[in-house]
Amino acid sequence: MQNIFKNKYLDQKKLVKDHFYYLVSNFSELNQKQIDNLSINIVKNAQSYKAGSPFSKLIHEFSLTSNEGIVLMCLAEALLRIPDAKTINDLIEDKIPIGDWKKYIKNDKDLFVNISSIAFLLTGKIVQEKVEENKNILGKVVKNLSGPILRNAIKQAINILAKQFVFERDIKKAIDFSNEKKHDKYTFSFDMLGEAAVTYEDSDRYYKQYEQAIIETGKGKNPHKKSISIKLSSLHPRYERNKLDLLKKELFPKAYKLTELGRDNNVDICFDAEEADRLNLSLFIFKEIIESKLIDEKYQGFGFAVQAYQKRAFFVLDWLKKYLNEVNKKINIRLVKGAYWDTEIKIAQEQGFTDYPVFTKKFATDISYLACAHKLYENDNIFSQFATHNAHSISYIKTLFKDRDFEFQKLHGMGDEIYSYLEKDDNFKCRVYAPVGGYKDLLPYLVRRLLENGANTSFIHQLKTKDFDILKLVQSPLTKIDKLDEDKIKKPIEIYGDRKNSKGLDLSEEDVVDSLKFNGKFKDIKAYSLINGEDIKSDEVIDIKSPHSSTTLGKKYFVDEKISEAAIESLKEYSSKWKNFPIEKKVEIFLKFADLIEENTNDIIEICAKESGKSIKNSIAEIREAVDFCRYYSKEALNLFQTQTLKGPTGELNQYRMIGKGLSFVISPWNFPVAIFVGQTVAALITGNVVITKPAEQSSFAAYYIIKLLLKAGLPNNAIALLLGDGALIGKKVINDKKLKNVIFTGSLETAKIIQSTLQQKENIPTFVAETGGLNCMIVDTSALTEHVVKDVVNSGFDSAGQRCSACRILCVEENVYDHTKHTLIGAMKTQQVGNPEELSTDIGPVIDTEAFENINNHIKKFDKVFQIDINLNQGNFVPPTLIEIEKLSDLKNEVFGPVVHMLKYKASNLDQLIEDINDLGFGLTLGIHSRIDKTIDRVVEKAEIGNIYINRNMIGAVVGVQPFGGYEKSGTGPKAGGPEYLKRLCHEQSISNNTASMGGNASLLSEVED
Ligand SMILES: Cc1cc2nc3c(=O)[nH]c(=O)nc-3n(C[C@H](O)[C@H](O)[C@H](O)COP(=O)(O)OP(=O)(O)OC[C@H]3O[C@@H](n4cnc5c(N)ncnc54)[C@H](O)[C@@H]3O)c2cc1C
Repeated sequence: MQNIFKNKYLDQKKLVKDHFYYLVSNFSELNQKQIDNLSINIVKNAQSYKAGSPFSKLIHEFSLTSNEGIVLMCLAEALLRIPDAKTINDLIEDKIPIGDWKKYIKNDKDLFVNISSIAFLLTGKIVQEKVEENKNILGKVVKNLSGPILRNAIKQAINILAKQFVFERDIKKAIDFSNEKKHDKYTFSFDMLGEAAVTYEDSDRYYKQYEQAIIETGKGKNPHKKSISIKLSSLHPRYERNKLDLLKKELFPKAYKLTELGRDNNVDICFDAEEADRLNLSLFIFKEIIESKLIDEKYQGFGFAVQAYQKRAFFVLDWLKKYLNEVNKKINIRLVKGAYWDTEIKIAQEQGFTDYPVFTKKFATDISYLACAHKLYENDNIFSQFATHNAHSISYIKTLFKDRDFEFQKLHGMGDEIYSYLEKDDNFKCRVYAPVGGYKDLLPYLVRRLLENGANTSFIHQLKTKDFDILKLVQSPLTKIDKLDEDKIKKPIEIYGDRKNSKGLDLSEEDVVDSLKFNGKFKDIKAYSLINGEDIKSDEVIDIKSPHSSTTLGKKYFVDEKISEAAIESLKEYSSKWKNFPIEKKVEIFLKFADLIEENTNDIIEICAKESGKSIKNSIAEIREAVDFCRYYSKEALNLFQTQTLKGPTGELNQYRMIGKGLSFVISPWNFPVAIFVGQTVAALITGNVVITKPAEQSSFAAYYIIKLLLKAGLPNNAIALLLGDGALIGKKVINDKKLKNVIFTGSLETAKIIQSTLQQKENIPTFVAETGGLNCMIVDTSALTEHVVKDVVNSGFDSAGQRCSACRILCVEENVYDHTKHTLIGAMKTQQVGNPEELSTDIGPVIDTEAFENINNHIKKFDKVFQIDINLNQGNFVPPTLIEIEKLSDLKNEVFGPVVHMLKYKASNLDQLIEDINDLGFGLTLGIHSRIDKTIDRVVEKAEIGNIYINRNMIGAVVGVQPFGGYEKSGTGPKAGGPEYLKRLCHEQSISNNTASMGGNASLLSEVED
C-alpha cells in the first residue's frame, strides 16, 4: 500500500507520460478504427434518441451555467425542505426574477419544459409586478393566481425535477419499479439517499435503511443480481482519517455487518468512493473485509468504487492485483471518474497542499480511466464494472474487454440516450445506479448531478450542446497530451500569485500521521527573555504547566523592571539604524523567517499542543497563519516603502515616503501564541520600528522558540527584545517611556481600556492598535440547510475550545427551525472528542488555565437550560462543549471565552430588530449568516455594524490577505490584521521637498527646453 500512499500528489505530467501513455497509445493504435466507429455510432444514435427523460430535457433547456440553471438548482435544493410559507415566498421572489423564463416556452409539445417554464414565468411576472394587462392569456391567468397556488405550481415543478434523480421513495417500491418490463435490459444498484451523517442518530438511521434495503433486495433470490451502493460517510458522523481508532470500533463493524448481510442475502455490496482524503481509510476497511471469512468462493459480491481522477487510482489497482492474488479472493470494482473534483481542488488550495490529489486536466482523467481499465483487464480476481456515460470511454472499454465478462453502469435519469445504442448487443450488461429515498436527503446527490451535467468539460453536457462537432467530441484523450504543460489551475502554493501560500499538512496521509507522534523532544524546556539576542536568566522562575495534565513542562524566567529598562535602552540605540535598514533586506529576513517557521512545523505543533493545549489541527492552522503574515506583510511593505516622487513645479524635488516611528510595544495573547504573536511583531518590525514583544505569560516558551527563529533568519539582535513576564509590570515600564510610538495589542477589552487610559496620560500620542473580543452571533433563517449550519456552529463555537475572539457565541435561529437545529446541534456535539491535544483524534483541548476554567463554569451555572456532553476526564482544564438557551440577547453582557454557544429563538418578522439588538451589544467583530435568500443576506449585511461577516460558512479562521480581520467598537480599533491598511498605521509619513534650483538656478530646465 506504500505505493498508493506516496503517490497522492505525484506530478500529473509524469504520471500520464510515464505510466499511462504507452499502455493506452499502444492499444489505441491497434484498435483506433473500431473505437472511433463505435463512438460515432453511439453519439449519432444519441442525437436521434427521442425518449429523453423530462430531466434531460430540462437540463438541455436550462444550461446550468445560465441564470435559469443556477436558479433551478437553488430552488430544487431549498424549496422542498423549507417549512414556512413566508420563506418559500421570499425564496421564489428572490430567485425567479433572475431568469428569463419566457425564452424557454416553445411551440413544440414538450410539455414538461413548458409547464415548468410557465410556472417560473408566471411567478417571475408576479413578483416583478410587471404583468401587462393586454398580454394574452398568461397575463390573465397570473392576475387570478394567489400566493398558495403559485407556491404549489413551483413546488410541483421542482418535485418533478427531483423525481428525475430519485428512482423511488422507498426500497420496496424501487424493487417493484425495477422489475417492470421496461427495465428488463438493465439491473440495478440501489443507493440509499443520504450521506455525510452529522450525528450518530443520522448514521443509525442510514444503517437501518441499508440493512432493510439489502434484505428486501435479497428477497426472491435476486435473480438479476441487484446490488446496494453504500456510502461510508453515512455510516459514521466522523468518517475522517484522524479518527481511525474510533472508526475501528464503530464504523468497521458496521461495514463488516452490511457485507455479511449482503452475503447472507445474496446481494452484492458496493462501497462508493468519496473524497480523496478518505481513500486510505476506506482501503483499511476494505482490506479487513476482504481478508475476513466473508469473502470466499461462495460470496464474491463485495466491491468498491475507484475514482480514476485521483492520481492514486492506478496504484490502487496495481496493489489489488498483487494483493488479491496473494489472498486468492475475488471482488468487484466499479471504475468511475469521480464526482467531487471541484471540492478536491478547493480543499487542496485552502489547505496549502503540495499539489492536487486529482488531475487538473479533463483529458488526463480520461486517459487515467483507460489506463485503469487495462489494470482491471489484467486482473482475473476482479469483476470489472465501468461507470461512465462517455461514448469514447465506453467504446474503448468495449473493445478492450471484448473477450472478458464485465458490465457497464449508468446513473438513473442520465445516459439513456448513450446506452440505448448498446442495448441490442447480446452480451449487453448494464447496471443502473438508482437513488432511493425522500427528497429531504436529496441535496448532496442533486448538487453533484447538476454540477456534472452542467460542467463545460462533461461529455453529457457537450452532447447536449447545439451543433457540437462529433469527431471532436469522441476523439481520443491522447490527442491532447501536449496540453499537459498548459495548466490554468495553479498549484495550491501559487494561488496568491505574488506571494507563496503557506504549506499545510495533509492529516489524512500516513507519513504525516506518523510524523506527528511526539517523541518527547520538549521535556524540561526553558523559556528566557531575549535582549541583544542573549538569553536573560532572571530571578523570577516559574513552572511551565501543561493545561491538559498536571505535568510540569519546564521553567520560564520572568523579567523585572530593571531588565525591562535595559531592553528599552538597547532598542533605542539601534532604532535609527533599523529605521534606515533597506526594505529589501528587511523583507529578505522575514521571508527567511517564514521558511524557517515552515521547516520547524512539527516542533511548533508540539509546543502549541503541550504549552497552550492547542489541538494538532489548530496548531497547523496557527503556523500557516504566521507564515502568511510574514509573506503578506513583506509584500505590502515592499510596496509601501518605495519612495514616491510627486509632481510639482520645476526646480523642486518632492518626495513622499514612509518611515519607521521608533520604539513599539507588541502585546500578544495566549490563544494564538504563534499566529498573532508573529503577525503583530513582524508588522511592527517590517515598518522600521524597534520592538519590545511581550507574549502572554501562558505561552512564553512558544514566544522564545519563535524569536530564536527570527534571529536565526537574520534579524539584527538589537531590533527586538522579547520580554517574558507579568503584563502589568512590563507594561507600566514600556508604556510610560517617552519614546514609545506604537502599542499593538491583542487581548481582553478590560486590558485594552487600561492601556488606553494610561496612554491618554502621556504627553505624546502613541498609536494604539487594539484587537479585543466579541459577542459574535450567527443568524440562521429557515431556508438554511440545518446540517450545514450545525457543522459550522460546531466549528465556530467549539473549535479551539471556543478560545478565539471570532468564535460564535450566540446562535440566533428562526423559530420554525429552532427545535430541529437544536436537536441536530446537540447530536453533533456528541461526536466531539474532548481530551489530550497531543492526540491527532482530539477535537477540543483544554481551556488555558484554572482561572479560565472557573470563569467559564461560573457563567454556565447562571443558566437553567444547559446542555453539555459527558467527558469523563479527571484532570486538566477541560470544559465540555456547552449549549445554553437564552431568552434575549441582553441576557449576555460579556464575551465568555470558552466552548459555550448560546442559542436564541427569533421570529422572521423581527429580523431587523434582531440586527439592531446585535449592533446594540456594542461589539462588532464577526457575524455569521446562513440563508439561501440573497435579499435576506443583503439586508443583514447592510444593517450590521460588524467587521467580518461570513455567509453560509463558518465564522472563524480568517485568512491573511484574503479576509482581513478585526472589528469595531468594543472589539477593537482597527486597522484589520492581515489587511492592506495595517502597516500604514505603524509608520510615519514623510514628505521631503528639496529646492533643487537653490544653488545656481534650474540647470536641468534650461537644458531640457528646445526652441
Ligand atoms: C453507476 C455510477 C456510480 C457512480 N459512483 C460514484 C462513486 O462511488 N464515487 C464518485 O466519486 N463518483 C461516482 N459516480 C459519478 C461519476 O464519477 C461521474 O458520473 C463520472 O465522473 C462521469 O464520468 P463520465 O465518463 O460519464 O463523464 P466525462 O464527462 O467524460 O468525465 C467527467 C469526469 O472528468 C472530471 N473532470 C472534469 N474536469 C476536469 C479537469 N479539469 N481535470 C481533471 N478531471 C476533470 C470530472 O470530475 C469527472 O470525473 C458514479 C457514476 C455512475 C454512472
